[in-house]
Order: sequence, then structure tokens, then C-alpha cells
Amino acid sequence: MANLEPNDELFDKIVNLCKRRGFVYPGSDIYGGLANCWDYGPLGAQLKKNVKDMWWRTMIQEREDMVGLDAAIFMHPRTWEASGHVGHFSDPLVDCKKCKQRFRADELTPDSECPAGGTHDLTEVRQFNLMFETQMGVVQNETSRVYLRPETAQGIFVNFANVQTTTRRKLPFGIGQIGKSFRNEITPRRFTFRTREFEQMEIEYFVRPEDSDRAYKEWVKTRHNWYLDLGLNPEKLRLREHEKDELAHYAKGCTDMEYFFPWGWGELEGVANRTNYDLSRHAEYSGKNLSYFDPDTEEHVVPYVIEPSGGVDRATFAFLVDAYCEDTAISAKGKEETRVVLRLDPRLAPIQVAVLPLLKNKPELVAKAKELERTLRRHYLVDFDERGQIGKRYRRYDEIGTPICLTVDFETIEDGNELFGTVTVRDRDTMEQERVAIDDLRIYLDEKLKIE
Ligand code: ATP
Repeated sequence: MANLEPNDELFDKIVNLCKRRGFVYPGSDIYGGLANCWDYGPLGAQLKKNVKDMWWRTMIQEREDMVGLDAAIFMHPRTWEASGHVGHFSDPLVDCKKCKQRFRADELTPDSECPAGGTHDLTEVRQFNLMFETQMGVVQNETSRVYLRPETAQGIFVNFANVQTTTRRKLPFGIGQIGKSFRNEITPRRFTFRTREFEQMEIEYFVRPEDSDRAYKEWVKTRHNWYLDLGLNPEKLRLREHEKDELAHYAKGCTDMEYFFPWGWGELEGVANRTNYDLSRHAEYSGKNLSYFDPDTEEHVVPYVIEPSGGVDRATFAFLVDAYCEDTAISAKGKEETRVVLRLDPRLAPIQVAVLPLLKNKPELVAKAKELERTLRRHYLVDFDERGQIGKRYRRYDEIGTPICLTVDFETIEDGNELFGTVTVRDRDTMEQERVAIDDLRIYLDEKLKIE
């Protein structure tokens, strides 16, 4: 059974590891940081890209009923009136007159303590719109006002007719896209979990109305399996179906996928049956016909839509947290040591293969390892390190989730030796080592790294 107690210490350790090893840095660090903004470092950028690539590959490339899109962040302001964001995309905000802090009213309890002493002295609740506004062009007036999109979904809806005509798709089919979204959250926090700038991976799957219940159930299953297939612990992933009174008035169903983060359960993704609300609203506001002509039944229908909407940053962080393990290992000297290992799925690991010459001061070993590194870089995410004791280097790669270390030693390069032309391959999870011929490495690594 997984330990489902919140764990602040674990959270601190992971945030620390992220900064120390270059997964995630505080944003604008040299200026003292900008609150709740984070920059992905070399390892984090690659990990996040791998998450997105896996999504794109499995949800779009490998499916015949899906296509991709990359819509602009700025959209016509009418978009946000039609979608309801101008009128309703707000959170309830309260100010405390004593400590001068702002809170989301729904996050406070009557006995929440005020840092200025006692309980808060709160203002009336007012609605705070979460959309960021800016001006487009050089003249500032009402008509130049634009928003930074608070979700990528609307870019899909406004392109429904374009995509359907150019790809000549029949229902059911879906459009997916990945991109940045912006929300002026009242209480951003918990590292990259809730930020004001974040990335989403969203799908709008268009179906005939009578097919929507089936498609909804199928997408909940598909998205749940996606997280499991990439290694999330099933005991820390749960589905939470919304009660009828939680649903938006137009929605027919919604299921959240929640992960048990170090502070407790948090939403990774929501899958919703949004009926034909979005297309109908955009048809009304734009005056364009957004119905679909079904050639089989010869009728016009406004498709229903199933929306699996996930956060890239939340998924990336969940994979990191879930992969983090502290193993007890016995060192070469017989001492008990803690080994930190990120048991990331090899398809997500930011470095898949580390190439290591056994000794730094032997030019022939370094040269051979460099040569191997250059060849493998064309196929895998590779790193090279010649510094320090080999055992320490293995540990450094364990800590960032590198599944395979390859060591070039004297046997590798000594002609006549029976191990000539082989390298030591060391497995992150089992710590076992075996000799593999350099000529066989591609096949060996493809299998170990789950490359199809
Ligand atoms: P929450 O209730 O946590 O604010 P939400 O229900 O408003 O989330 P959606 O509007 O359904 O979120 O957005 C879809 C997904 O986008 C979420 O499941 C989450 O993964 C991601 N997401 C939303 N807001 C943020 C944020 N401020 N920071 C990071 N990711 C976010």
C-alpha cells in the first residue's frame, strides 16, 4: 500500500533536487526571483518535452481519429465573451483588513488564523476575473484590449470548421494541441502545481450527440491509462467524478484525474462532456455556421465535444514525485548508504544513456568513450561524464533518472582481450552490470529504453 500521508520533507527534498540538478530554477533568479514563476533547466526542459512528446505521439500521431493544431495565444476578444470567460471566469476574492493579504474565499475556513493575530477581518467577497489583459498595437483604447488565453481549448473551437473542411474528417474525430495558458491566480503556490503561466495539453473530441456518453467513458479510460502506462503509481492516482451540482450548467459529465502529491490530492487533468455548448456559442457570437453535415444521414448536427484537458507542468511534476525513491544500499566498503533514484520511465528520462570512461587520465579511454558518445547522440538522449569515481558517477545519474550507464574500460579497448569491443552496462534500477558488445548496443538500448 502506498503511504498516503502528506509529506513536507519529501516535498522540500524534491524541490531542492530540482534546483540543484537543473530541473527547475526559481524564475528570474539573479534578480531575487519573481514570485511563483519557475524556469525549467536543461533536465527539466527535456523531461517536460518528453512528457509532451509522449502525449502528442500517443494521442495524435498514433490515432487515426486525431489531428494536431497550434493556435495563437492572442485571440479575438469576442472569443472570450462567447466562451463565457469575460463574464464568469473568476474566483471569489477577499482581503484581510488586518494582515492585508488576499485569499480565495473558498480556501479559507472560519477559523483560519491571521498572521497579524486572531482570525482574519475579511472584506465582502468580490469576483476577481482571472484573465490577464494587455493592449495590442500602438494605440491604447477599448478596441485594442486583448487577453492572454486562459486555456488552449478555445483555439480549437474557433478552428473547428477550418480543420474539418481542410482534413475532410467525419465524426467522430478530435483536435489536440499543447500550449501556454495564463491565469491571474489569486493564490499560486505549491511549486509548479499552480502558477500564473503554465502549459496545457488539450483535446476536443467531436462526436454525434448520441455518441457522447460512450466517447466520454472511453476518454476517461484512455487518459487514465496514459498516466499508468508512463509509470504513475495506481494507488496514487484516482478518478473523481463530479457531482451533478458541481457541473457547469451545460456539461453532461466531468471526471478529474487526481494524483497524491506530497501535500495531498491535486488535479492533474479533467475529462468533460461539454455537450455542444462551445460550438453553439461561437456560432452565435461569430454568425458562422459551425454545424457538421453528416453525409451518411444527410443531416446537420452541432457536434458534442469531449474535452480531456491536462496540465503539462502538473503531469511533469507528478512523474518526478512518483519516480523519487530513497533506497538503502550497501557501498563497496560495506557501509549502509542512502541512494536517491528517480525511477522515471525510460521514455521520460531527460538523459537516457550516460557514457563514462572509467578513468579520466587515460586519454585512450576518454577518446573511445567520446567516440561512442558521438555515435549514440544521434539516436538517444546522451550525456558524457569523466569526473570522479565511477561509483559516484553512477549515483549522480541515478538521482536524475538515467536508466543506463555505459562504462568504457581497459577491456573495451585492449585488442586480443576476450572482452574487447564490449562496454559495461549498468542498470539504474537493479544496479546490475553486464558486458554488451558495442556492435549490439543499438538493439540492446532500444529494448531497455522502450523505443519502438
Ligand atoms: P484547479 O481547480 O486546480 O484550478 P481547474 O479545474 O481550474 O484547476 P482546468 O480549467 O480544468 O483547471 O484546466 C485543465 C488543466 O490545466 C488542469 O487539470 C491543470 O492540470 C492545468 N492547470 C489549470 N490551472 C493551472 C495553473 N494555475 N497552474 C498549472 N496548471 C494548471
